Amino acid sequence: MPELPEVETTRRGIAPYLEGREIHEVIVRNRRLRLPVPEGLENALVGSRIGPLSRRAKYLILPIESPTDGAPAGEASRVEGEARRALLWHLGMSGSLRIARLGDAPKKHDHVDLVMEGGAILRYHDPRRFGFLDWLEGDVTNDRRLVRLGPEPLLPAFDDDRLFDRSRKRRLAVKPFLMDNAVVVGVGNIYAAEALFLAGIDPRRAAGQISRERYVRLTAAIREVLSAAITQGGTTLRDFVSGTGEPGYFAQRLNVYGRDGEPCRRCGRELRLVTLGQRASVFCPNCQT
Ligand code: ZN
Repeated sequence: MPELPEVETTRRGIAPYLEGREIHEVIVRNRRLRLPVPEGLENALVGSRIGPLSRRAKYLILPIESPTDGAPAGEASRVEGEARRALLWHLGMSGSLRIARLGDAPKKHDHVDLVMEGGAILRYHDPRRFGFLDWLEGDVTNDRRLVRLGPEPLLPAFDDDRLFDRSRKRRLAVKPFLMDNAVVVGVGNIYAAEALFLAGIDPRRAAGQISRERYVRLTAAIREVLSAAITQGGTTLRDFVSGTGEPGYFAQRLNVYGRDGEPCRRCGRELRLVTLGQRASVFCPNCQT
């Protein structure tokens, strides 16, 4: 499943082919994604330009500048600043975006193409169809899906106090606590498990019973595992510019995730599996307390 680092890597990989360019054609082969592809999207997009891509949690945001944007505003009724139109794109469980070239034949599960000025094609592939794209009008940051999200883990708002302050009186185990998007976004199952290992914290421990000092270490560990994944993703960027195969979601060297029963890389003890919040969690009972 694409997690925050994959979505960020996707944003960086596709942005140079989209930003500032005009959309020449929109091809929808299958509208039945998690949300149906909006009717009329094709006509609404053709002739528009794509603005600077951004990401919020695991959502990609593609601002859409209609041909009249940027023209001198004759009336004071024109809303300034945050009023925008945008595409909100979520990759779901199995979605991916890559850049294809004119003449690259679509494969099975290639559901949507944006054909850009210059010949690059943004191509959406999603075998399980849990992803979606939706049309946003107005201030994107006020969208109901975005407005309640916690801070981005790699930005300053995710500071050393955030986890400690949010966890007081919480009996929930720390791992599902970390995976709550209202606490911090983008810490999925893999990265929660890996960060807890780096910080030496038992994933079963009640969130409200962890000291501020340990949360400071955990905050640094979260930043470290996510940054490392994004850096590693950078080496696979070329995979986004190709008509061949699946995009470059990368296999990282993981310390605990998926290693149930294998020896701990730090102490050699056997790693254990527990289920927390319906998610499998692997940890070292010796290094994580
Ligand atoms: Zn260990």
